Amino acid sequence: MEKTLVLLKPSCVERNLIGEVIGRIERRGLIICGMKMMQLDEKILREHYSHLVDKPFFPELCASMMASPVVALCLKGVDVVSVFRQMVGATNARKAAPGTIRGDLSMSGSLNIIHASDSVENAVIEISRFFNPNEIFDYTPANLKFIYEAGE
Ligand code: UDP
Ligand code: MG
Repeated sequence: MEKTLVLLKPSCVERNLIGEVIGRIERRGLIICGMKMMQLDEKILREHYSHLVDKPFFPELCASMMASPVVALCLKGVDVVSVFRQMVGATNARKAAPGTIRGDLSMSGSLNIIHASDSVENAVIEISRFFNPNEIFDYTPANLKFIYEAGE
């Protein structure tokens, strides 16, 4: 099954929305196979946001991502990368659709409370950036046969 990397940003942690977001993940039927709190630094952010390093907002982005610890999650599910990006919604939360995590819980183009991998290839890279192999747990939840039809 596919995996994706999620970060609950300081704008999620500081607003006491960790439980709300994790509740949505659990209710959707996604499997949490890794979860930890960590303090990010500029080194890891320069790698993680390498596509944005030259943007004028990069220093503010870095500062906002280091303002408190984040919660890193590894999620597992069928097509989980695209399914979870749909759950997250558009980057600018004011344009994110109602029903999405950003669209329901945030109002900012930058403090948009959550990161999720945008492709299967990037998910593999990002999971290895934030988790050691022994921090990923490939267990099979007992209720899996009620989440997916056999053969899905
Ligand atoms: N960001 C920002 N201003 C912008 C674009 C992005 O502050 O104009 C921040 C925002 O927090 C976003 C992150 O940089 O979530 C990563 O940008 P990306 O384009 O990868 O969006 P995402 O994949 O998070 O939707
Ligand atoms: Mg992105």
